[in-house]
Amino acid sequence: MPLRTSWSEDKCPIARAADVLGDPWSLLVLREVFMGNNRFDGLKKELRVADNVLSERLRRLVAAGVLTAEPYSTGKRPRNEYLLTAAGTDALPVLHVFTVWAQRHTQSTGETLMRIICTTCGTESASGAWCQTCGAELTAATTAWDHPKSSEILIELANAGARLESRH
Ligand SMILES: [Zn+2]
Repeated sequence: MPLRTSWSEDKCPIARAADVLGDPWSLLVLREVFMGNNRFDGLKKELRVADNVLSERLRRLVAAGVLTAEPYSTGKRPRNEYLLTAAGTDALPVLHVFTVWAQRHTQSTGETLMRIICTTCGTESASGAWCQTCGAELTAATTAWDHPKSSEILIELANAGARLESRH
């Protein structure tokens, strides 16, 4: 059941989406989970976020049905890893729209751009929603990122979708 807030049942879908996805930490948590960084300690390290802030954002994303918390054990005590639900996976184009907009209208201290690559044909997408070369819709299963924060040349996003499918 989604968390109820003052915006969660608003008539405007932009307001309802902003209620779930509009927080910067929440968007950056989603970015990390899409890139395979889905455990508390890894998220904390990459985002340099306070424990209580991260816990709260994860709780909200789980309550909103965007992530699920799945227990795993490292031997000491059970902890959670966070997996994208179908609704979470559907948020990929939101991150892509942010990417395209930021590269057009904001400046970075570095030269490196983020590239959204269609894995169906291997070309870069300018829109992040679909591939202008082969026409494929860009989903987690058909998209890779060349991301300035990663040392990998291309980050496959398909794991998020594959892991989700294996659980249903
Ligand atoms: Zn393509």
